[in-house]
Amino acid sequence: MRIGQGFDVHKFAYGRKLIIGGQEIHYPKGLEGHSDADVLTHALMDALLGAAGLGDIGMLFPDSDPAFRGASSIGLLHVVCSKVNALGWKVSNVDLTLIAENPKIGPYRQAIVSNLANAMEIDLDKINMKATTTEGLGFIGRGEGIAAMAVAALERFHRPEDDGHRD
Ligand code: MG
Repeated sequence: MRIGQGFDVHKFAYGRKLIIGGQEIHYPKGLEGHSDADVLTHALMDALLGAAGLGDIGMLFPDSDPAFRGASSIGLLHVVCSKVNALGWKVSNVDLTLIAENPKIGPYRQAIVSNLANAMEIDLDKINMKATTTEGLGFIGRGEGIAAMAVAALERFHRPEDDGHRD
């Protein structure tokens, strides 16, 4: 089995939708970025790519590429999972932490987990999502942006041809 970690930060900007885990959150500000700036999904993709040894999302989806302007990160997550699966790995579980002073994410938690599970084609119980604040400290505490951390564990697909063999 393999594990990977991901981390991302985006700053708030007016005139943008706030998208977290593929979910539009009702809030006066959004996050700035080349894509939809879905900070949670970005951290998750980096954790998956890290676990599979596939680099990072900047290598896969360069922000210099106009194709990814305004891109739906949940769509990119599906692409990442396809690449991970193609290498013979399946997602064992993922654990996510969103770090934000505001907005409160609790009312959206189920929708976010469901969005991520659909994009990854895995069961809901393989995804755990937590949210915390920084107790008013630092750029997050001042409401300047949002951070997210993710850990992903991958396990090998069971291959029938491996029966009776030991590595
Ligand atoms: Mg990002």
